[in-house]
Amino acid sequence: MDHTTHQSYFFDKGLRFECQRCGACCTGEPGFIFVEKHDIVQIAEYFSQEALYFIETYLYPFRTGYSIKEHADGRCIFYQEGCSIYPVRPAQCRTFPFWFENLRSFNKWRRVTRECPGIDKGPVFSKEQILEFIHASISDTIKSHL
Ligand code: SF4
Repeated sequence: MDHTTHQSYFFDKGLRFECQRCGACCTGEPGFIFVEKHDIVQIAEYFSQEALYFIETYLYPFRTGYSIKEHADGRCIFYQEGCSIYPVRPAQCRTFPFWFENLRSFNKWRRVTRECPGIDKGPVFSKEQILEFIHASISDTIKSHL
C-alpha cells in the first residue's frame, strides 16, 4: 500500500462523480490531450487502423510523445456530439476530474466543480481509488513535461 493512503485528505470519505457526457472538458480552450503509446495502440485498434496511419492523421508530436489534434475552436477532434472514442479514451481523459492539480486543495476541487457537472453526482469514489487516479495523472503530467 502506498504511504499516501495513510495521510489525511479532504477526500478521505471519498468523492462522488459520474460523467454527464456534457463535453465541457472536451471542448473550449485549446490544450493538450496527451496520449501514451498503449493509448495509441488501443485507439488505432478501435478504428481498425494501422498505428502509423492513426498517428499521422489524428496526432501531433508533443514533448516526448503525442497529443490529439483539435479543431480550431479547441474541440477535441474525436468529439462529435459526445466522445467517439469513449471506451478507449486516453488516461488523461479517463482520470479527469481526479487530477493531481484539481485535488491539491478543497478550494481547487470546488473550482473544478463549477466546470464539471458530473462532480457530486453518481457513485462515491473511495480515497484509495482517487489516489490511484491522482497517481496516474501525476505520471502523465510529469511525462508530458519532460
Ligand atoms: S465536464 Fe465532467 S460531466 Fe462534462 S464531459 Fe467532462 S467529465 Fe463528463
